[in-house]
Amino acid sequence: MRILDKNFVEFISEKEIADIVATMASSINQDYKGRNPYYLVMMNGAFLFASDILRLLDVDSDLAFVRYKSYEGMSSTGELKELLAIPDDVVGRDVIVLEDIVDTGFSMRAFLEILKSKSPNSVAVASFLVKPEALRYDVKVDYVGRSIDNRFIVGYGLDYNGRGRNLRSIYVLE
Ligand code: 5GP
Ligand code: MG
Repeated sequence: MRILDKNFVEFISEKEIADIVATMASSINQDYKGRNPYYLVMMNGAFLFASDILRLLDVDSDLAFVRYKSYEGMSSTGELKELLAIPDDVVGRDVIVLEDIVDTGFSMRAFLEILKSKSPNSVAVASFLVKPEALRYDVKVDYVGRSIDNRFIVGYGLDYNGRGRNLRSIYVLE
């Protein structure tokens, strides 16, 4: 499949995505039974993952969208820009961060620093994908959907220069 100037091939199917999300949801449902977590959805990339997993999460919860940007084109810029801030009412709450992918870990690391300054009771990270080979910052991902090689992917919320977010499978650069 062609997106702008690059060729991509299917890498994770819709079916596999659904299985991964269901497994993550059952772990979270178990761990948070009887609690009242506060989900923070990392826009834009996590919007499809979040909408799928949230429908499988059955504990009473609150939700907010946040947006911090570090990526331009196909690489991390090493600088985190705040576009939609963390709400102040996360204070004292059990926060679960819903993220599409942890790559170098730079964004998550910087984001967690800001989040901790808002004094939540606890913080857990649920990331649909992680790239262990690319990890350069100390970030603990509590719920990992799947680990992948250090290759550029699009689809299921992830874009290449704004394109491809609505693809139902995940595609990898050929
Ligand atoms: P990090 O700061 O961990 O290097 O990058 C984190 C963010 O960059 C992710 O949340 C995601 O939005 C974006 N990102 C990382 N790897 C990829 C990738 O392979 N494809 C796309 N489209 N975005 C990525
Ligand atoms: Mg992201």
